Amino acid sequence: MSILENVRALATQNPLCDACLGRVFADRSFGLTNTERGKSLRITVSLVDDIPYESIDTTACWVCEGACADDQFDSWGQRCATAVSDTEFNTYQVGTKTPPLIEENETLLRESIGLQSDAGELFKSEYNREVGKRVGQRTDTTVEFGRPDIQFTIDLEADSVNVDIHSAFVYGRYRKLTRGIPQTEWPCSACDGSGYQGSIACETCGGSGYLYDDSVEELTAPVVCDVMDGTDSTFHGAGREDVDALMIGTGRPFVIEVFEPRRRNIDINRLEGDINAFADGAVEVENLRLANYEMVERVKEIEASKRYRAAVAFDAPINVTNFDTALTTLTDTTIEQYTPNRVDHRRAAITRTRTVYDADGTLDDPTHATVEIHGAGGLYVKELISGDDGRTEPSLAGLLDTGATVTDLDVLGVYAESESESFENDAYFRTVDASSHPISHSASE
Ligand SMILES: [Zn+2]
Ligand SMILES: [Zn+2]
Repeated sequence: MSILENVRALATQNPLCDACLGRVFADRSFGLTNTERGKSLRITVSLVDDIPYESIDTTACWVCEGACADDQFDSWGQRCATAVSDTEFNTYQVGTKTPPLIEENETLLRESIGLQSDAGELFKSEYNREVGKRVGQRTDTTVEFGRPDIQFTIDLEADSVNVDIHSAFVYGRYRKLTRGIPQTEWPCSACDGSGYQGSIACETCGGSGYLYDDSVEELTAPVVCDVMDGTDSTFHGAGREDVDALMIGTGRPFVIEVFEPRRRNIDINRLEGDINAFADGAVEVENLRLANYEMVERVKEIEASKRYRAAVAFDAPINVTNFDTALTTLTDTTIEQYTPNRVDHRRAAITRTRTVYDADGTLDDPTHATVEIHGAGGLYVKELISGDDGRTEPSLAGLLDTGATVTDLDVLGVYAESESESFENDAYFRTVDASSHPISHSASE
């Protein structure tokens, strides 16, 4: 059948609104709404057949029961905007739950003239687009189909708008300037983080539920959560240093995720100052930037090498020539390391190989040295120094044929292994127009 024959057949099934008629032919032409498409087809048939044209009352439509009326689209657009009137966002997406009855009617309509049950466009696609257009106009924001700041779900049958506020992300590098602070909150294992053993306060953690009072997370994330007015936050680090190690130098990349933020377009320089004031010298952050959610995966999974500084104590006096020779031997050398005893015993014991890119150092006195090691990600530095009773080969202790112990270990830098995989890649940052002021939405026009 030709398109006009199809229209004639469908037009007998009155009352059928222009949108529901037009939607069957949504794959024809561009730049028209389905309402315009349906009305035009109806007019065309009237002209071709020279019969009177009668406009259709949308509210009486047997397929959508009036849901496709312009004022319905307007009303849903208004309801979406109102639902987020106190929430700042830049991008959104609208989804629609089609009532089963409308879905059934859509199928019946198409099958009645021998078309595929999904001919043209689905009801929900039109709804998403028409309501979406109106949300954008009211809130001065843009549609994004990938990962929008806000996901609206319109449920026609329940007569409700559901709003999902997606997380916001702040990237930066931190320095940990105090020893004895873990990177993230560390729940007490004695009481499983409850703070209680039976009805009395846990002795191990003093009832706090945490093994440490502070963590890099606790000293940074709550500030971000507060500034972004979120419900909660979490800390994602690019690896982690030992609790007793400092993280200094250029710092370690991290992403703080804030759940359900009501503010996103924040003053990042001011946030940096706020965090550093709050952390009070125990932790420092810098290079803060607003990031995309993909940045979380990136900081967790990018292959990174680390530069360490170790204070080393030897069991016997060391000759400076032997010391220098040993470090030269370790440079550009592949190390075999059997899983150290101190490492989590649930981890499978294996021999792994890691490269030392650079080993340098100075002998402070015959039994003390400061050693800097730049090694591939996963290198066990304490064992590289001590030899771990022969489980790491070669090692500084082994090459010098005397016991060697790391007394202090600091991380000086965390670097992406490959030049092209730098942590600070613009594709993973949100660009906020420097001239843009924080967006404020008004629910009314
Ligand atoms: Zn309709
Ligand atoms: Zn406890």
